[in-house]
Amino acid sequence: GKDEMAQLNRSFNQMADAVQASIERLEIARHAAEQANRMKSEFLANMSHELRTPLNGIIGLAELLSLEANDDDMRDHAETIRDSGQHLMVVLNDVLDLAKIEANRVTLNVQTIDLKALIAAIAALHRFNTSTKGVELVTTLPDGPCEIEGDPVRLRQVLDNLLSNAVKFTHEGSITITLREQLEQLVLSIQDSGIGIAAEELTRIFEPFYQAENFLTRQHRGTGLGLPLARRMVELMGGKLDVVSIQGTGSTFTLTLPRTPAPDIQHIES
Ligand code: ADP
Repeated sequence: GKDEMAQLNRSFNQMADAVQASIERLEIARHAAEQANRMKSEFLANMSHELRTPLNGIIGLAELLSLEANDDDMRDHAETIRDSGQHLMVVLNDVLDLAKIEANRVTLNVQTIDLKALIAAIAALHRFNTSTKGVELVTTLPDGPCEIEGDPVRLRQVLDNLLSNAVKFTHEGSITITLREQLEQLVLSIQDSGIGIAAEELTRIFEPFYQAENFLTRQHRGTGLGLPLARRMVELMGGKLDVVSIQGTGSTFTLTLPRTPAPDIQHIES
């Protein structure tokens, strides 16, 4: 009767209140976690910046020492300091970039990019390395002009990174860069006949600091930051970066870029 209805109603309201309260608690917890994550990224960004200044000093002076050294041992040591410093600088710059992306502090400088010219320029940079290894470097470009709106510096960084990897992990055969038009998108793929990547590692290579457990990798000094950074940069431009690979046969990294990024992408807060 009436009493039961009232009782039921009360219980229901209590339950709804309890649900509401836990949603609010969750919301507060989520906020706190996001804030902590932002602070961590900001700390990292500031920290990396503070580290670069003294590191520049070390690299510069090691270079000077190596030029002025009168004996071979001394010059060797100075060059080792300089090379280690330069490697550390690469790591630091990548960490700084990743931290900036995570903290939403990356500003894209969006301009019209002549994609064919960019590809030609980057291929030219790597042609010396491929030809000394006996690897063929081929570019296949469409006839007409291929322009997109994006950040040229960042895109160059991404392409350079993908091509560096292809060169690094390919010891025979060829590397082919192909650009295709697909409706409102441009699809750029870098295909190599290199060592390939095991299926179980394909998703992991986009995680920061991951390097595939391959004995050949150990000969190379990488950072494991190139791919995560490349994927994040491409996503910021409204595109995506994927890979297919067969171990022992080769890998293909495919970059899909919209000709014009979504309007909100051009105004990422700095
Ligand atoms: P790094 O090259 O500095 O190690 P990346 O993030 O660029 O870092 O790449 C992560 C890992 O993915 C590499 O260490 C390598 O094991 C694997 N990898 C990337 N590109 C290729 C490729 N073209 N062929 C084979 N393995 C690759």
